[in-house]
Amino acid sequence: MAGNARVGVLALQGDVREHAALLRGLGAEVVLVRRPDELATVSGLVLPGGESSVIDKLSRLFGMQEPIRAAIAAGMPMYGTCAGLILLADDVLDGIDGQESFGGMDVAVRRNAFGRQTESFETDLDVPALGEPAVHATFIRAPVVERVGAGVDVLASLPDGTVVAVQQGSLLGTSFHPEVDGETRFHERFLDLAETFALTRESTHA
Ligand code: GLN
Repeated sequence: MAGNARVGVLALQGDVREHAALLRGLGAEVVLVRRPDELATVSGLVLPGGESSVIDKLSRLFGMQEPIRAAIAAGMPMYGTCAGLILLADDVLDGIDGQESFGGMDVAVRRNAFGRQTESFETDLDVPALGEPAVHATFIRAPVVERVGAGVDVLASLPDGTVVAVQQGSLLGTSFHPEVDGETRFHERFLDLAETFALTRESTHA
């Protein structure tokens, strides 16, 4: 289970501190990642919630877009919540003009999909991959997954079938924010992936 992996939180904008605190509480060593040389020291990266168009712009300004894309291509585990999920999507719907994503997940994600009336809401979600109890999920100007590619597992949907949590290999994404509710199981799943990735990297470099 979760342990002492060294992982990063992309620290350009968004709820960086909440993720860092949760991951540290699970025993991980956490690096706040703003530069390519910091990314090179970690075995996994959390993309926090915030504003995806801002994180996108800052990542290009800081020279992080290509290194993050290369890390994804190399199999580095990443976990995106809300804006972070948007950044992992191959296709972004309702992005601002010129908005880009890192991509890597074969999904289409629509920004602000619940409209202005529903700025935020909370609900209990059944997530079979995590078992009992249900996940208490907080959605804040949240995106939804509108297209799910063949290699993508749906981890959770709302009662009307709207997809809100997905996994493709070592990439995890949720429309909601487990880090604000003390829900640790998605982060534990991410840390397990990061530990496995660290081990395979060590053995291929040995
Ligand atoms: N609406 C934001 C976006 O488009 C996401 C909101 C969030 O991360 N809580 O990036």
